[in-house]
Amino acid sequence: MNGDGWLLTKDERQEWLDALLRDGKRLIAPVDDEGLTLFRAVSTAAEASLEDYGNARWSPKEHQFPNTEALFSYSFQGDDVLLEDTPPDDQEQVLFGVRPCDAAGLTRLDDIFLGDQTDPFYARRKEATTTISMACDKSRPECFCTAVGGSPGGTEGSDIQLVPLPGEEVSLLRTMTPKGDELVAGHSDSWKPAGPEDLAKSEDLRVAVEQQIEHAPLAPEWSAALEGTFDHPLWEAVGERCLGCGICAYVCPSCSCFDVTDQGNAYCGTRCRSWDSCTFAQFTLHASGHNPRPDQPARYRQRVMHKFAYFPLEHDDRSMCVGCGRCVALCPVGIDIHQSVRTAVSAGASGEGSS
Ligand code: SF4
Ligand code: SF4
Repeated sequence: MNGDGWLLTKDERQEWLDALLRDGKRLIAPVDDEGLTLFRAVSTAAEASLEDYGNARWSPKEHQFPNTEALFSYSFQGDDVLLEDTPPDDQEQVLFGVRPCDAAGLTRLDDIFLGDQTDPFYARRKEATTTISMACDKSRPECFCTAVGGSPGGTEGSDIQLVPLPGEEVSLLRTMTPKGDELVAGHSDSWKPAGPEDLAKSEDLRVAVEQQIEHAPLAPEWSAALEGTFDHPLWEAVGERCLGCGICAYVCPSCSCFDVTDQGNAYCGTRCRSWDSCTFAQFTLHASGHNPRPDQPARYRQRVMHKFAYFPLEHDDRSMCVGCGRCVALCPVGIDIHQSVRTAVSAGASGEGSS
């Protein structure tokens, strides 16, 4: 939105972020939390931990779609039930240092929560959030954003993007949306304007990091073919190792499943929603005892199908997976969702094992 953007030193960046804090905004940044990098609210920009920052262990999803949140509280008063809304959290917040894959993952949540039926809790938080992404200056072994249409320099879901220019002490800052423009307004007057040569350097960096990622593409047009493997016996082999631990869903920037529970006693309580996972055995368990996904292969198949078949087929071929690689790196039994898709599509294409 702002042409070539600006070049910011680390000090200028911190001064700007600190000024946003003084304006009353909540600043959420990657911090070192006992050896793990996590997105947390900070009281000064200097707390952000960006040295050798690959990506956070958990995505920033929890600040847009909390792992547990109260929807309303209730109390019984005689024959009446009184309902009370949860006080809204309308504080403006800035998600800073979000990797491009995670910023793209947040847009998948938008598709779910701001689609045909808008979720008011999510919508309110979204309205109050501005996302500043940070382009990657190197890839990690598990990264495969380019295989699903993304890029280490992608701007989807970003209101502002920072690109650390190689060999220089400055980052290129560009705004992408009116929200981004608003966040720099009144601050950028003293910043050094960037030129086309700086944009060219950021493009060179994007290309160089893209070339580090060796994962083969997962073509969008595979969605229908993947869906066609639903009854293929390959899923037994692909999913039998899955433990149903749910780690993959919890660390994923785009997983959106939740459960709703009442927490309280005979007199009062709170209705909460909390993250859930389609790989949990109880996820689809009916009160009757029937479970339409009766075993782990069926549950793991659902995870793959939702990300790579059902969602893209309804959302212009956009994969629900943004290739952050967290589930690949953290699955305790080494299940690799990128490989699962390729195995399924190639088995389906060859007809191998199908009845
Ligand atoms: S992290 Fe691995 S074992 Fe755990 S539910 Fe996901 S695929 Fe299954
Ligand atoms: S499915 Fe795995 S690799 Fe894809 S976005 Fe989710 S956590 Fe990242």
